[in-house]
Amino acid sequence: MALEQMRTTDTCLTDTSVVVVGGGFGGLSAACYLAQAGADVELVEKNAQLGGRASRLETNGFRFDMGPSWYLMPDVFERFFGHFDRDVGEYYALNRLDPHYRIFFKDGDRVDITPDREQVIETFESYEPGAGDALREYLAASEEQYSIAMENFVYEDRPRLRDWIDRDVMNAASIGFQLLGTMDEYVAEYFDHPKLQQIMQYTLVFLGGAPKNTPALYNMMSHVDFNMGVWYPEDGIGGVVDSIADLAVELGVTTTLGTEINEITRRQEHFHLEAVGGDVFTPDIVVSGADYAHTEQDLLPSRARQYDAEYWDERTYAPSAFLMYLGVEGDIDPLAHHTLIVPPDWDQHFEQIFDRPTWPDDPAYYLCAPSKTDEEVAPDGHSALFVLVPVAAGLEDTTDIREQYRDFVLGDIAEHTGVDLHGRIVCEELFCIEDFISVYNSWNGTALGLAHTLRQTALFRPPHRSDAVDGLYFAGGYTTPGIGMPMCLISGEHAADAVIKDRSE
Ligand SMILES: Cc1cc2nc3c(=O)[nH]c(=O)nc-3n(C[C@H](O)[C@H](O)[C@H](O)COP(=O)(O)OP(=O)(O)OC[C@H]3O[C@@H](n4cnc5c(N)ncnc54)[C@H](O)[C@@H]3O)c2cc1C
Repeated sequence: MALEQMRTTDTCLTDTSVVVVGGGFGGLSAACYLAQAGADVELVEKNAQLGGRASRLETNGFRFDMGPSWYLMPDVFERFFGHFDRDVGEYYALNRLDPHYRIFFKDGDRVDITPDREQVIETFESYEPGAGDALREYLAASEEQYSIAMENFVYEDRPRLRDWIDRDVMNAASIGFQLLGTMDEYVAEYFDHPKLQQIMQYTLVFLGGAPKNTPALYNMMSHVDFNMGVWYPEDGIGGVVDSIADLAVELGVTTTLGTEINEITRRQEHFHLEAVGGDVFTPDIVVSGADYAHTEQDLLPSRARQYDAEYWDERTYAPSAFLMYLGVEGDIDPLAHHTLIVPPDWDQHFEQIFDRPTWPDDPAYYLCAPSKTDEEVAPDGHSALFVLVPVAAGLEDTTDIREQYRDFVLGDIAEHTGVDLHGRIVCEELFCIEDFISVYNSWNGTALGLAHTLRQTALFRPPHRSDAVDGLYFAGGYTTPGIGMPMCLISGEHAADAVIKDRSE
């Protein structure tokens, strides 16, 4: 029987108990698929709310999505709900943003990327004759690569080399092999103008990489951005988390919040999970959606780990982030819902993240103003503003450094967008490296997990199935397919499929 059929028969995991550690997108997704297959699923989350990095902050009448704010790849969410015979529309409505985003270049120039393709083509053409046609070609190639990649390598998990030895897969993979150069080289084949190159490369920030260390095959992100669009879900990303949590309840998942697991051991018949505070869980199967490195290094005894400390030290981590959640009096024109602020030479910022980690002194950063679209997120006459500056994971992060950096970034925003927030901030919270560690047990404070470098793509990412402990599985951004909400939803599906496959053998 095909896996997809097995997971919908709701009997293949009857009499199997599962604890899912961590209620991020990966954990929630795995819980849903496993419950649908008949397992008795308990999801145990350290924090008081579900969502993980997609948590919500409510303060003084403002509501902030604390992490993800770009709803991309609506097809993946539709497919996810479809697997449970549901439709996204039964849970939340979606608005396509216009513009998708606005870019302020720090030399005073400004550009909108809108859903209107011809308008975007004209914009490209205005920077460089021929760039309009180049964009058409670029996006057509991205679209083709997206569908090949999704079908063969994203929706299909291929954790071992032998999973790639199939004629169709090798044919599809050969396209990937032509795209193993770096994104900066690939984009330069289409566009000469540095600003156009930046526009085409910025999506890499979603993958936690830099143009010089991310393989060109991720150019398919441009199909996601330009062709599929940027959306805002009703009630923001928190509304999506609530919807998946509702679905999980409908499928029979039970959830225990505010419970941090601090030890996982395999006993003869079942696992023994101990939580801070002494609660004990004894399931047949464990799926960890917490950071992979945290699960292996902090929760498992050394004999049960697949990797040693050196392995984790040598990985390339996606950046952490310096985040400000600001409740602001008055409006914040000319910011759009999504705004990027980009210095003319951003190589230095990427170097200060990946090559010589330090607090960036001319950062490329992102502003999210959800109150432009959603009047529920801020009191009347006010705006909600979320500032995200990517910074290297593992940097020293003290109150003094944060305060200085806050002032510096507010000055930079005023200088390059004209939005002076001075004297208008009515409430404010900062969140940075040390918070990622303490709130989510993030490894090294990374905001996203393992970057998508060539050596950390596809079967080079840690697997869903532990090869050191029978019955232990992993979901979330460290595994395949990778970083981002849509990818983490798929990771939960892969982890559940691995459980179903192993239990049916
Ligand atoms: C600032 C920011 C902006 C982002 N922007 C976007 C975006 O716009 N679009 C997008 O698609 N993606 C975005 N992402 C990425 C996306 O949020 C993540 O890739 C995804 O949410 C990670 O999901 P996950 O399944 O890996 O788990 P996580 O969200 O990391 O959840 C893991 C959960 O495990 C819990 N946990 C950890 N240890 C334990 C333990 N010992 N016991 C119990 N529970 C434990 C944690 O508390 C957490 O809730 C962003 C991320 C950040 C941080």
